[in-house]
This record gives sequence, structure tokens and C-alpha cells, in this order.
Amino acid sequence: MKTIYLDNNATTRVAPEVLDAMLPYFSDLYGNPSSMHSFGGQVAKEVREAREQTAALIGATPEEIIFTSCGTESDNAAIRSALTAHPDRRHIVTSRVEHPAVRSLCAHLSRQGYRITELPVDKDGLLDMNQFEISLTPDTAVVSLMWANNETGVIFPVEKAAELAHKKGILFHTDAVQAAGKIPINMKTNVIDMLSISGHKLHAPKGIGILYVRKGTKYSPFLIGGHQERERRGGTENTPSIIGLGKACELAARNMEMENTTVKRLRDRLETELLSRIPNSRVNGDRFNRLPNTSNVSFEFVEGEGILLLMDEYGICASSGSACTSGSLQPSHVLRAMGVPFTMAHGSIRFSLSIYNTEEEISVVIEKMPSIIDRLRSMSPYWDTVGQACVVQ
Ligand code: PLP
Repeated sequence: MKTIYLDNNATTRVAPEVLDAMLPYFSDLYGNPSSMHSFGGQVAKEVREAREQTAALIGATPEEIIFTSCGTESDNAAIRSALTAHPDRRHIVTSRVEHPAVRSLCAHLSRQGYRITELPVDKDGLLDMNQFEISLTPDTAVVSLMWANNETGVIFPVEKAAELAHKKGILFHTDAVQAAGKIPINMKTNVIDMLSISGHKLHAPKGIGILYVRKGTKYSPFLIGGHQERERRGGTENTPSIIGLGKACELAARNMEMENTTVKRLRDRLETELLSRIPNSRVNGDRFNRLPNTSNVSFEFVEGEGILLLMDEYGICASSGSACTSGSLQPSHVLRAMGVPFTMAHGSIRFSLSIYNTEEEISVVIEKMPSIIDRLRSMSPYWDTVGQACVVQ
């Protein structure tokens, strides 16, 4: 059975060109880029090129790029650095829909005495900018808001938010892990201080990330050790992955248009067909301010995990918006923050596409989904008593 992979916000396949670029650095070219000899120097040259390629994707300069191990490290490093830069300030502004890489860190920091404001979102997952502005105080050390949401794809106006924060002398970090490579980012035209990217979301391998730190921003390293990354992150460089990430960023820049035309068209076709073929279904998240590859669809009166199991029988991979925590199925914090009704939130599926998906794959998903939902609804006591009655034809 062929796998139909629609879970690209969870992780992506390594692009064949990326793998080819990486392979020599596991075998013949294993030198340490910090070494004095030319064997290491050869690798250092490739790392420099990768830094230029990654910087180019986001309109940064190479000196503003720090290679890290993942998006989580970048998020942690950025927020902790901002707190070190402003030891007199004890307040952090973030949102209720951030990834755990930011949210759990903030929860941890709150136990250490920091005050956290988690901004709410509306039913479409959008931020209220007035409320954002009011939340900024002289005690605020840093704002951390995601550029695009991993579950719904909803895009926050982070460039505008960074301007508002700057007016009050507050550092601004954005988690751009889902946005990078899917929508244009140009650090020359905004005032964002720090930005996180993760390699495995844009067809580079797992275990490599970037923290962008704007020139002139006070930065305090998270990992203290050797002199690597201009003293901003100790640890011998993960050279194959850095070189792979450079290649992936180059490809992402080239494929950005395809993300916003071909991939978006496939996503829209999938979404439109599912909504028209399956009653009591809806899309979660603003339909316009959204990544081109993401669709979060709720099927009322069924469990997301049940849907995923049946999809798996056909080789279709996606994610559900509920997670099994302490034995009970809890809808995700994102859908809860948006006030998605429980009967809808429980049956939510996130489809996230990539440039490798095809029309044929989407046709298979469109064909299989109605019978999957029917099968589950036929076993659902809620569907019998409530669902049938409220089907809108
Ligand atoms: N931020 C967002 C929005 C994400 O979607 C993810 C991963 O799912 C992360 C951060 C964490 O990235 P990594 O897996 O590279 O640590």
C-alpha cells in the first residue's frame, strides 16, 4: 500500500537534493570546521555557504544566523536570552495557542516567578491587537508570538506586533517554524529581533534548527562551551545537517510559489470536497490568514483518533486535534482556545500538505473520508440521537 503523507506540519521528508548534499559530510568530508587544517577548512567553507543560503531564505545576513539543534532549542534560547538581557523585567507576553516549545517554557518560567500573559484568540484563531497592545507593560521583557500556527495554519500579524512592542522598548521573538518556507519572510522589512526555524519542517533532517538574532540585539547564549557560532552556541557543528538545511532553504525559496499555487490548490480542493461530501463538518481557523498547506477539519460526533486509525488502513497519514492525556481524550489547547465546541473539537483532523503531494493522492483521500466518517458515526450514540436530526443537506 502506498503511503499518502498529509502530515507535513509534524515533519517532512528529506528532499532528495538535500540528502545528496549531506552524504559526503558523513563519510569522506568528516572534518571539524573549527580545525586549522585544510581538511576541516573545506567543511567550514560549506558551512559558510549553508549560512548564506539560510539567511537568504529570510532576508537576513549570514552573521544573524545561529545554527541550533531544533525549533525547540531556538525558542528556548531566544526567550531565555531576552530575560537575561532585561534582568529587571519579569513579564512575558505570549498567546494561548503557542507550540509547547514556547508554552511549556513559559509555564516553567512562571513557576520561577515570571508573570506570563497568554493572549486569547477569537473563534477563527486570530489575535486581538488592541488587547495585545494593552498587555505590554514597562515590566515586559519579551513578547513571543508564533508566525503561523502548527494546528490550524492561522497566521499572526507578527510584523505589526513587533513594531508595537518595539515602541515600548520590548524585545520580540517569533516562532516561525511553520511559516518558514511556506510564506515569504523578509527580515529587512520588519523589526522582529529573534526568529526560530526548524529544519525538519522544510525538507531538511530532524535535529537542526536556526535562531535568527538581529544584528545589534543583545544575545546571551543558551549552550555555553566552545567558540562555535561566534560564541553564541557552543558545541561542534552538526555539519551534514547544517549543509542539508542550507540546501533545503535554497529549495524552499525556489518552491515558495508552488506552495502558494499548486499546494494551496490541492489543499482547497481537499477541503471543499470534504465539506460538501460530509455533513456536520467544518474548517477550524481563519480561511484567509492561513498557511497554504494546512487544513484543520472537524467531523462532528466522532473521535479524531478513531478517524486516524481508519485512515491508516488506507495508508493516509494526518494528525488529530486531540491527544490522549491521562486516559481521557482532550481536544488540543489550540481548538479549546478558539472555543471550538467539544463535539467538533474531538473529531478534528489536521491535513498538512507539501510539494510532494499529488492530485491522485488527494482524490483517494476525498474518496475514502466519507465512508470512514460514516463507519464511525454509525457506531456513535451521539450521531444516532443528535447528529441525524441536525444534518443540513
Ligand atoms: N514550534 C512550532 C510551531 C512547531 O510546529 C514545532 C514542531 O512541531 C516546534 C516549534 C518544535 O520544533 P522542533 O521539533 O524542531 O523542536
